[in-house]
Amino acid sequence: MGRVKQKYNRREAEKRFELVYEAVEGDRCIYCGMPNDGKSDHQPPVYVLHRFAEGGLVTKRAIREHFGPCKLVPCCTICNMGLGAYHGSDDNGRRQEIANWFLVDDRYPEDKIVLVVGYRLIQDRLQGRRGAEIYEFPGVGRIIYINALTGLIEGEFSGPAEFPEWLQVTQSELAEWLRGASRRKSRYFLDMANLASYELLPHARDDPRGQFEAQQSSAVDGN
Ligand SMILES: [Zn+2]
Repeated sequence: MGRVKQKYNRREAEKRFELVYEAVEGDRCIYCGMPNDGKSDHQPPVYVLHRFAEGGLVTKRAIREHFGPCKLVPCCTICNMGLGAYHGSDDNGRRQEIANWFLVDDRYPEDKIVLVVGYRLIQDRLQGRRGAEIYEFPGVGRIIYINALTGLIEGEFSGPAEFPEWLQVTQSELAEWLRGASRRKSRYFLDMANLASYELLPHARDDPRGQFEAQQSSAVDGN
């Protein structure tokens, strides 16, 4: 069966599917607990609906039957970039996808040192030996994101109110520092993920992390 390919224009697609999404209230990222500063994430991503429509007409009902209720959830800029057009099956799957950008990169043994230094800087900060300049170091941000995301995935905490004090303090200081200059949040994501540019993500536009490939082949297997 031939699929009608239609060039993806994010702004047009967002407008097209705008009415399908229901906004969820909140001022903290539902994935990591950071203040979301008014930003949100589409569940499922607009790009996923665009692919689902295959260039034709699609009803709200067909979308709901296939994806369940579509939500616009509070989400920080950094988690939003970590997800890209990744949909996954639930919030924990999405948290894992984000965390994968920040965990130790086994291809580079020295990457472990970045996290060790990050831990040390956080300890120094909590003991008052250093100031908010520690947040400039991407290893610090990675420690904060990894602990929040994996703690929620593993059920160690049910929400940010249960985060240990060190995590609450460093999250709020990091949020403050990220607001200090324009475009600092997106730059920080790239630094934490060891990426030179968001445009360089493998298949980020056409098939993020192979999720459509996987869907297609499992559909074939099922036949
Ligand atoms: Zn977040």
